[in-house]
This record gives sequence, C-alpha cells and structure tokens, in this order.
Amino acid sequence: MKIQKLIRDVLLVEWFRGLSVTFRTMLKKPVTRLYPHVKRQPFPGFRGRQALVRDPDKLKERCIMCLRCKTVCPSNCIKVEVGKDENNARVLKEYSIDATRCIYCGYCVEVCPVNALVLTEEYEYLGDKRSDLLFNKDKLLSNWDDFLANYPGEFYFNKFWRPPGMPEKMLTPQKRNEKPIEIKKKNEEIAS
Ligand code: SF4
Ligand code: SF4
Repeated sequence: MKIQKLIRDVLLVEWFRGLSVTFRTMLKKPVTRLYPHVKRQPFPGFRGRQALVRDPDKLKERCIMCLRCKTVCPSNCIKVEVGKDENNARVLKEYSIDATRCIYCGYCVEVCPVNALVLTEEYEYLGDKRSDLLFNKDKLLSNWDDFLANYPGEFYFNKFWRPPGMPEKMLTPQKRNEKPIEIKKKNEEIAS
C-alpha cells in the first residue's frame, strides 16, 4: 500500500484528478447569473414583497377587517386598526405589515376569505432603516400597483389564494370564484 501511495504521489495522480474536475467544469454552462444585470423570473408562488390587493371598482383595499390574517400570523407582524365612519360603519383605519419580522409563510394569504392579501413575486426591495420595511396600508396598496405594473405575464393568480389540497366546500365564495387577474386591464383601471 505504501508503494502504491508513493507512486501515486510521484505521478501527481490526485493533482491531475483535481485539475480534470476544474477543466470539465470550465466547459459547462455556468449555473450562476450576472445579477443584477441578468435577472431570474421567480417561479409562480414565490413569496416576496407583501401587498394589499386593490379592488379596481372601489379603488381601495378589499379587506373586510375579519382579523384572520392578524390572528394566524406566527410572527405577530400584522396590525389592523378598525374604526367607525360618520355612519357608524366599520372602516379600515390602518393596516400594516412589518416586513422585517415576516417569515413569508403565506398563512395570512391562505386564510384571507376575500383574497385581499398577497405575497407578490417581487424580491428586490430594501431599506436603509427599519421603518422603510414597515409597510402601512398606502404602501401595501402601492406595492400591489407596482407589482402589476411590472408583471411580465398577461394573467396573475396567486396560488395561496386557493390553498392546494383545500376541499372546494371549505373555500369561501371569493376564493372559489377568484379568476386569474388580467394584468393589462387592471393596469388600465388603476391608471384611469
Ligand atoms: S407571511 Fe406569515 S409571517 Fe408574514 S405576515 Fe403573513 S402570516 Fe405573518
Ligand atoms: S384576513 Fe383578509 S379580510 Fe381579514 S383582516 Fe386580513 S386582509 Fe383583511
């Protein structure tokens, strides 16, 4: 065994073996990308920047203030403030998500009975202070507008709006009947 090892050492067998791996790899297509010059389109269902869906008819959030998202959130990073208007009707005074605490589990999106929430496929967002990532209601709505404005496809449907494996009868009517959103049409509605 010692002689065999000696011969291998003298002939630099391991050295050549290592180099062969290097040369083989050099001829392969790189698995990395030159980010940010080359960007990858996230897979459908990627969980990125939080947003509140804007109802195109009312031009405001869809939220019905049921508080399910706040209750289910394991990070306790959702705040919902409900008030009353002059007619004593409930109104959403404030809604916020602290993105620095969110773990992107998607529970809030799954549980929302009216699909008012979404974790968009937007992954390029940052802030140089904590408050930049504390998204209030207006910011969450503008996150939705920005997401739609830059969405590359023609239709959008978030897979958490209709949780996989959830029996039909367990879904709310909104979740059962939600259709893919036609991006161009929605962008025109928001812009007008
Ligand atoms: S994705 Fe999860 S952690 Fe983030 S706000 Fe929703 S429920 Fe909370
Ligand atoms: S679960 Fe949906 S409707 Fe209920 S409070 Fe949260 S965002 Fe609003």
